[in-house]
Amino acid sequence: MLETSRIVRRITRQVRIGGVRVGGDAPIVVQSMTNTDTTDSAATAEQVIQLAETGSELVRITVNTEQAASAVEDIRKRLDAAGCTVPLVGDFHYNGHKLLAKFPACAEILAKYRINPGNVGRGDRHDSQFRQMIEIACRYGKPIRIGVNWGSLDQNLLAQRLDENAAQPTPKSLAEVTRNALVESAVQSAEFAVHEGLTHNAIILSCKVSRVQDLISVYRDLSERSDMPLHLGLTEAGMGDKGIIASSAALSILLQEGIGDTIRMSLTPEPGGDRTREVRVTQDLLQSMGLRSFSPQVTACPGCGRTTSDFFQHLASQVQSHLKQQMPLWRLQYPGVESLSVAVMGCVVNGPGESRHADIGISLPGSGEHPVAPVYEDGEKTVTLRGDDIAAQFLARVENYIQNRFTDN
Ligand code: SF4
Repeated sequence: MLETSRIVRRITRQVRIGGVRVGGDAPIVVQSMTNTDTTDSAATAEQVIQLAETGSELVRITVNTEQAASAVEDIRKRLDAAGCTVPLVGDFHYNGHKLLAKFPACAEILAKYRINPGNVGRGDRHDSQFRQMIEIACRYGKPIRIGVNWGSLDQNLLAQRLDENAAQPTPKSLAEVTRNALVESAVQSAEFAVHEGLTHNAIILSCKVSRVQDLISVYRDLSERSDMPLHLGLTEAGMGDKGIIASSAALSILLQEGIGDTIRMSLTPEPGGDRTREVRVTQDLLQSMGLRSFSPQVTACPGCGRTTSDFFQHLASQVQSHLKQQMPLWRLQYPGVESLSVAVMGCVVNGPGESRHADIGISLPGSGEHPVAPVYEDGEKTVTLRGDDIAAQFLARVENYIQNRFTDN
């Protein structure tokens, strides 16, 4: 008999970012990034709150100019006033050393600095500017993420590795040399940061690329070469279904291998689209893999020729929206409710079986059959619903089930 596969997390060190633990035995952390102009502190704070309320446990903001660095204090004040405690991460490129030195409030308030070693300075300035950022991180007791990205890989390192490769009797492909250089850049930069005084427990690594197979290969390699926590993400994943599918394909393989301590889905929103989508999709990925629970899971069959009326779709959608609507309240009233599983099935073919596997499930009769719908709770048939208001009756039973099972006694 086949054993159900289980995910064994790779053991990493643990890093604290504000009140959030990343790595070690901590749950995989969901993070996101704003796309507002950071200098607009009202709009940025509002988006941070939306992301945090959706479930982002860390939120990164762009800190690219003096105006952006000076806005960080006001953003934090607005968040605190709204009761939003989510740690803010500053994203720095090119001028991070100057901004952190010139704006001590920014350096103090940010809970983590993201540093891209490919963008800290060219040639002789690379080490000294990187050193300045590490020195500030040490002074304020802040962790960093060394975030390598293949769109901005350290060009000196890559050129050097390409030259060495060209001199080999059987040179590797450009893609392979680039992948190796990405990992090397992350590992070398972490060694540099430690050499400059940062502790091992204050560094998270990432090596983002935009192609699924490259990402898998790079992270497998990185996880073998470092015990620091890893931030996963497919960079520039793209819009809509493509972005979600490509990210899920890459991240789920790595997560299944126990690789990854914090993740973000870099989805491009539709114009005017909802930024919080990247958080919901990330949560869905982790929950569908059984790694974390964020909200009750609804199992619904796709429907087929046996469900030609739209009654089944209406019920599935009503159940889904009712759970979503109630969750903010239920989360407070019924601890653990996010682990609930609900099944809404179209007919007797798979309905009773799937409903028995859920905590509570309903199996509709399918079109043209008797308007009766058996309900199963904890694997047992408890009632058969009849009439025009089956949906309302079922939702009442779901409420009742939750009350009985998740109330603290
Ligand atoms: S459970 Fe019934 S209605 Fe749903 S897909 Fe299967 S056969 Fe069709």
